[in-house]
Amino acid sequence: MFPVDQIRNDFPILQRKVNGKPLVYFDNAATSQTPQQVIDVIVDYYTNYNANIHRGVHTLSQEATDKYEQARIILQKHFNARNPYEMIFTSGTTHSINMVASGFSKLLQKEDEVIVSALEHHSNIVPWQMLCEKTGALLKVIPMNDEGALKMDVYENLLSEKTKLVFCNHISNALGTINPIKEIIEKAHNVGAAVLIDGAQSVPHMKIDFQELDVDFYVASAHKVCGPTGIGFLYGKQEWLEKLPPYQGGGEMIETVTFEKTTYAGLPHKFEAGTPDICGGIAFGAAIDYVNKIDIDAIANYEQELLEYGTEKLQEIHGLRIFGTSNKTSVISFNVNDIHPYDIGSILDKLGIAVRTGHHCAQPIMDFYNIPGTVRASFAFYNTKEEIDILVEGLKRAISMLS
Ligand SMILES: *Cc1c(COP(=O)(O)O)cnc(C)c1O
Repeated sequence: MFPVDQIRNDFPILQRKVNGKPLVYFDNAATSQTPQQVIDVIVDYYTNYNANIHRGVHTLSQEATDKYEQARIILQKHFNARNPYEMIFTSGTTHSINMVASGFSKLLQKEDEVIVSALEHHSNIVPWQMLCEKTGALLKVIPMNDEGALKMDVYENLLSEKTKLVFCNHISNALGTINPIKEIIEKAHNVGAAVLIDGAQSVPHMKIDFQELDVDFYVASAHKVCGPTGIGFLYGKQEWLEKLPPYQGGGEMIETVTFEKTTYAGLPHKFEAGTPDICGGIAFGAAIDYVNKIDIDAIANYEQELLEYGTEKLQEIHGLRIFGTSNKTSVISFNVNDIHPYDIGSILDKLGIAVRTGHHCAQPIMDFYNIPGTVRASFAFYNTKEEIDILVEGLKRAISMLS
């Protein structure tokens, strides 16, 4: 049995009331909640060893540097990167993608092609559109089907020697679809293209092995996996990180500076200009330790149970349609008849239930289904079946008020 009652005690926020009702937090795909173990690490940092890293000879600076570099190693081990310096700390997924897109503006030429999937978050579309505008490269799209899965046969036809880059999320935030990234990577490599995987939604839900995937770039944010906002990572294979130019100039990223010429520092510092989110990096490491202590496979199994239970219960509601029905994680995106998602979300909030409504930063998916948006309930390992029952009751109430 998954020890969910015990786990819930780790999350102080789950004790609070919203609009007089116990909080039911089903917006985990937007951001996850923070366990006491991670909060303690943040408090400890500012209480005991807040200092700038890498430059100082004094004790606090050395302690902060050690903890920050240890966090990098926690991430390296967790994702099985070959080297710690292939893990670059960034401010999050969006920042990481922009770093790679900006770097590729020096590597792409007119008529080169890049491929994106139809299931992307805007942050994995817009930077590449900007890149194509700058370089004259062409953007091609892997289409999706009604179940919310990518059409892999079309993908194969899009690939050619002109393809230089493929980018795709591991899991869609809007629908929860798990994409066949191993196959996507293999096929791209067959034509010599590099692949960036947006792992913002996969890192909280499954074990990921960068070397086994043979992925070129992989990016994610801490705040979706029990860590704080403002910190994330860019993983890149060493050979790629060496090929890309630095993203920002500043302190920390240089080896020598004169007004005639500056030489850049080695990895990872080349991509970490300025004072980073030191506390955030350390807390990110603590968050990964926390989920590993529970066991990420046990988390995945329990979340699948919640998904099955939630799907079954929600489908009993007359007029409710679920979007995205292929192999997926614990995300249920739905609409009821033609009631606007926003109206449902507002009533649920009055009942203490937090869901997300709207296009979920994935307008192309909403256009595909010809809808303005959906209501999205996304479950984490600290949610329960009882909370799903509360959602179902709340929905019935909302529907009767809005119909
Ligand atoms: C949340 C999310 C992002 C953006 O992450 P930020 O932390 O806001 O930078 C990108 N892609 C997917 C799939 C996401 O779920």
